[in-house]
Amino acid sequence: MHDVLNFINGEFVPAKSGAFIDNVEPATGKVYGRVASSSKDDVDAAVLAAKASFPAWSTTPTAERAKILTKLADLIDSNAERFARAESIDSGKPLSLARAMDIPRGSANLRYFAGLVQHTSADFHDHDGSGTPAFNYTLRKPRGVAGIISPWNLPLYLFTWKIAPALATGNTVVGKPSEITPVTAAMLGELCEQAGMPRGVLNIVQGLGTDCGGALVQHPDVPAISFTGSTKVGQWIAQHAGPMFKRVSLELGGKNPFIVFEDADFTKAADTAARAAFSNQGQICLCGSRVLVHESRFNDFVAALADRARALRVGDPLEATTQQGALTSRPHFEKVASMVKTAKDLGGVIHSGGEPVSASELPDRCHGGFFYRPTVISGLDPACSVEQEEIFGPVVTVQPFKDEAHAIALANGTKYGLSATIFTNDVTRAHRVAAAVDAGVVWVNCWLVRDLRTPFGGSRASGVGREGGTEATKFFTEPKNICVSM
Ligand code: NAD
Repeated sequence: MHDVLNFINGEFVPAKSGAFIDNVEPATGKVYGRVASSSKDDVDAAVLAAKASFPAWSTTPTAERAKILTKLADLIDSNAERFARAESIDSGKPLSLARAMDIPRGSANLRYFAGLVQHTSADFHDHDGSGTPAFNYTLRKPRGVAGIISPWNLPLYLFTWKIAPALATGNTVVGKPSEITPVTAAMLGELCEQAGMPRGVLNIVQGLGTDCGGALVQHPDVPAISFTGSTKVGQWIAQHAGPMFKRVSLELGGKNPFIVFEDADFTKAADTAARAAFSNQGQICLCGSRVLVHESRFNDFVAALADRARALRVGDPLEATTQQGALTSRPHFEKVASMVKTAKDLGGVIHSGGEPVSASELPDRCHGGFFYRPTVISGLDPACSVEQEEIFGPVVTVQPFKDEAHAIALANGTKYGLSATIFTNDVTRAHRVAAAVDAGVVWVNCWLVRDLRTPFGGSRASGVGREGGTEATKFFTEPKNICVSM
């Protein structure tokens, strides 16, 4: 049993109320620790510390800030195995995935933004020959205290994705990780002193979304909120931060189409579709959760996808051979199960999965865990709730389409607009369809190939704004244009 505390002004402290919430291990269903349950008072203390450290941090030379962030990245790397194990236990994801993806990406985020801020230049506009001779240059100053709120699916990966550009550009931070996966953010806090980060520059408040996250969103001294999470909470944040004129970046849910044309490389498309559907138990916002297949290959593709789903080894996340771990919490497991039940009630055909993993197939320690079989469903009306709402679990639906226009109409037929994947060997069609789908991120003949320099984010119910590269550094800085007469 362990206690995860707040990290405020360089010290680990419990919530002022002394309250804790349980921290459950998804693979066992058992409480294995406690998390500080913070409220407004704790957020106030964290913001105060962040505000006090802002003048010095924002005027620290860029190279020095970058050095500290790089050192923090190095420390993650030298503790990578400890981080990966903690992430796996806390979230239910396979240890192999945490090792290969989450933790390396956590340090890569810090290293990338530390590099980026040392290689940026300001905008300059020379006199264009009209009117009063003058030139313009644009300063970009950090905004102040950045409020960072992150979800449970990629805990360290997404926490660092936000704190890195905020800190690199000279903001100080109050971060709130998900109460479901609080551990690796706290471990990051433990490394700050060793990295040379001054006290109060990075503060971490733990606790529930409504109490702790809500207080951060509404704090008058936090001018920027960067949030990744559900569309519903994103809406709440927009409603409350908007009237306070805060800068808000919202990275929200998705219901991403994965389109397979008749000329696609069948095996590569099926392998990639399975990865896109089931990686991290389908709990990645970018998962291809709606597979759309040309009618000429529909039956074969459904069978191939179901074969791959059945072949995935579901089990103890800490076992080296496990490919599918546990869903992250009991409520989430129940939500996924209820969506599959709805699919069955609506006449959906279950080609694989469709039920929880039985205890007899799991090691003893995992009998109370939240394990669901990778599930492939067809035969649903594209307008039904299962096809329209984000499930965020190991559940994928498959729809046939007649032609390109039909594929695009199906792809764009939800309220979301996060990512889309297109499999075709026709290069002209690839570009045409990529331009026509409503998505902020499009992959052609691949999935989840990420370059940290590129804009990342969604449109419509998938969010507002972009992260990644200079989009992120722009978000965390306020432009000021200066016009000088010549
Ligand atoms: P969530 O919205 O329930 O919670 C996200 C974070 O917000 C948590 O830290 C939570 O405590 C906090 N929160 C909850 N209510 C709040 C409030 N009223 N004010 C402030 N903070 C509050 O989301 P989740 O269940 O943790 O994550 C899953 C969701 O995240 C999915 O919808 C998924 O698509 C989305 N997601 C999106 C992206 C992306 O980049 N677009 C990436 C990962 C996950």
